[in-house]
Amino acid sequence: MKCYSCGNPAVIYRKYEGRAWCKKHFSRQLESKIKATIKKDKLVEKGDKICVALSGGKDSCLTLYLMDKFFGKRPDINVFALSIDEGIKGYRDESIKKARKLCKKLNIPFHLYSFKEEFGKTMDEILKNKEARACTYCGVFRRYILNKKSRELGATRLATGHNLDDEIQSIFINNLKGDTNRLMRLGAKPVAVKKDFVNRIKPLRYIPEKETTLYAMLNGIEFHDSRCPNAEDSVRFDVRKFLNDMEEKYPGTKHIIICHFDTILPALRKYFADKGSVGVCPKCGEPTSRALCKVCELLENL
Ligand code: SF4
Ligand SMILES: [Zn+2]
Ligand SMILES: [Zn+2]
Repeated sequence: MKCYSCGNPAVIYRKYEGRAWCKKHFSRQLESKIKATIKKDKLVEKGDKICVALSGGKDSCLTLYLMDKFFGKRPDINVFALSIDEGIKGYRDESIKKARKLCKKLNIPFHLYSFKEEFGKTMDEILKNKEARACTYCGVFRRYILNKKSRELGATRLATGHNLDDEIQSIFINNLKGDTNRLMRLGAKPVAVKKDFVNRIKPLRYIPEKETTLYAMLNGIEFHDSRCPNAEDSVRFDVRKFLNDMEEKYPGTKHIIICHFDTILPALRKYFADKGSVGVCPKCGEPTSRALCKVCELLENL
């Protein structure tokens, strides 16, 4: 197959577009799309300090690489990385090696925090309690540290590697669970900044997972590629399969879902805007919309 633009050998054929592209044109387009997302949603502004949540996986490595490529030379913008060691032996220790290596290569400050330091236990220790569901603890604890530490490090933006597939899976899951609060927090730049919450940005939000992987491989970005041993078959797993089947059968489905969601999101946010308030957890002092924050509640259960 030949590149639609230059006739050189193609590296990808996009079914949803009906065109094939070579490495140069595919990479250029992907970067342009991400730049357009950043511009349209004002994800990054003058004076920002961008903290990239870096797990060492492909999407977070790509986010860091591109934030550096786009903003690394700007004197008014600062980019740094934050990794979290949940304490999953044989998995996270390996991905952190990749994260550290990439930061060294790009000459980007790297900050590492761990569940052990923050909560006194690693994930492996938490899971000795057979009742504990791995991803519930891991996800809640990780989001807590990401927000707290990025804020303490002075970040004005917390960039995550969510791609198109992640985002539309979340749209479906929140619909299936009837979780309006979470649903309206989705978006390239989720809801207005609330005190003590660092504004999250998702520059890869319109890029399909297959393309983030291809870009990383074609552009020599080393990443950690293995499945967490604690990953369970979850609703996300089924939704992912369903959406991939739909995309295969009806190319363009994934883009239609996100475009439609973006159309109704402002109305959704407006309607539900004042229905939830953010206060402070009486135990740890972090922001929460609950009487006791989820982290403190989970820690009490341990
Ligand atoms: S799969 Fe679950 S336990 Fe593993 S890193 Fe992800 S959230 Fe944590
Ligand atoms: Zn080309
Ligand atoms: Zn708390």
